[in-house]
Amino acid sequence: MDKELLAMLVCPLCKGKLKYDREAAELACRYDGLAYPIRDGIPVMLPEEARVMDVDEKLHDSPGRAGES
Ligand SMILES: [Zn+2]
Repeated sequence: MDKELLAMLVCPLCKGKLKYDREAAELACRYDGLAYPIRDGIPVMLPEEARVMDVDEKLHDSPGRAGES
């Protein structure tokens, strides 16, 4: 993934920053708890295509803010 392209990408729902997960090939929005897939190197920024992250993933993924919600 192109780092400059990544920096431009925001969540289509909340316009927040996304976290790139290289292993899963996903762009995750912690706020919405959605993970957008990257297919053939192209991020699919569609909420209906996104995977809903489970609570454990979100907690694991947000150091310092766990348990705050
Ligand atoms: Zn979002």
